[in-house]
Amino acid sequence: MTLRIYDTEAQSLRDFVPLDPENVTMYVCGPTVQSGPHIGHLRGALSFDLLRRWLEYRFGRVTFVRNVTDIDDKVLVNATPDEPWWALAYRMEQEFSRAYAAIGIAAPTYEPRATASIPQMQELIQRLIDAGHAYASAGDVYFDVRSWPAYGELTNQSVDAMEPAADADPRGKRDPRDFALWKGSAGKGEPESATWESPWGPGRPGWHIECSAMSRRYLGAEFDIHGGGLDLRFPHHENELAQSTAAGDPFARYWVHNGLVTVGAQKMSKSLFNFILADDLLAERDPLVIRYALSAAHYRSSLDITATTFDEAEAALDRIGGFLERAGRVLTADADEVEFVAVVPDAFAVALDDDLNVPQALAVVHERVRAGNTALDAGDRETADAAFRDVTAMLGVLALDPADEQWQTDNGPEASALDALVQTMIAQRADARAEKDWAAADRVRAALAAAGIALEDTTDGTHWSFTNG
Ligand SMILES: [Zn+2]
Repeated sequence: MTLRIYDTEAQSLRDFVPLDPENVTMYVCGPTVQSGPHIGHLRGALSFDLLRRWLEYRFGRVTFVRNVTDIDDKVLVNATPDEPWWALAYRMEQEFSRAYAAIGIAAPTYEPRATASIPQMQELIQRLIDAGHAYASAGDVYFDVRSWPAYGELTNQSVDAMEPAADADPRGKRDPRDFALWKGSAGKGEPESATWESPWGPGRPGWHIECSAMSRRYLGAEFDIHGGGLDLRFPHHENELAQSTAAGDPFARYWVHNGLVTVGAQKMSKSLFNFILADDLLAERDPLVIRYALSAAHYRSSLDITATTFDEAEAALDRIGGFLERAGRVLTADADEVEFVAVVPDAFAVALDDDLNVPQALAVVHERVRAGNTALDAGDRETADAAFRDVTAMLGVLALDPADEQWQTDNGPEASALDALVQTMIAQRADARAEKDWAAADRVRAALAAAGIALEDTTDGTHWSFTNG
């Protein structure tokens, strides 16, 4: 089986063949930390978390670098006298890390901050100047788009059809589409802490050069996958590609872009009041439900959040969790404690090998859950056990196993107090039944039902669960 992945540059599915099959290399553009994360950030980061996890399953090792853009026009604009830009950037970076971790997005192998790679950016700018593809002008340095005929190749645009680059004051540009590699800060009143000395005068790096320099520093001049949101293709990724290749680096071998999130079929915007902040969503919904909901659409399609998106995810997880609990109870009774190697079913692997088709992979999970339940109904332990192992292995790859420690948040004193009370009532009901006092037994069950708790009698005792997940 070969993993095929949609390469935005080729505009087609391509067989994925890593440079080094023992170490896949990935660079994903991280956030500009000017404000907190919203649902679109979660979806984007999750798309690449799922790709990384599948690559890890297939190849073993993945070196995954995701940067933090901690210096940028927007970070400077949002700073206040009480909170300098670097404090704001760090606070927001932590908000991103917390939100990502909450929904099970694994930390990158490394997370470089742009401000820690200024010498590497300056070195790359100098190489571009030396090669005749960049020029210094009035304290700024620009990439000379007319000097690079391939400019526009990522997004299939001709230079003449492009909008002027809006990233810098066009004071010294040869062509309005030239974009800034270095932004001179002399006389602009920017804080001294946001200014670095350079051969072209004091200033700070342009956004695009940051990623070209950091990917090269940590992954080398050529690496496997460059990822980011669809909205980054132009100008950001087009410009990264031009800079790196014009400087002589082969750069990314596959370009992968995730689709964006809409809310009620509309682009999120503060003026439409449909902006979903990660913190608000996490306060309202179970993190596992959020992860499932944001995984359930194909990573390349746009994901529309509606009134039922999270309820549907919750119901799907309940079906999976219900089977795992039931199978766990029945099967642990005669399970040998031998650790098994997690192997996913072929249909699941085929789905993920097909451009990371997570919706199809989830369909395989649900198919195995149904088969497992049917086997349990029929008392067929062998088939149920096989289904249980399959489901556990698949959920492990997707990081969606409800039994995983990551999702165990309700182990506080309230949870153990509630369990103790329900167990007492279950014992009272058992006593009533032993005395054939059916009315008393029914009263216990009815009282629990009124509190939203359902009982299930099995051969190994009575178990309780919440009626509404
Ligand atoms: Zn980038």
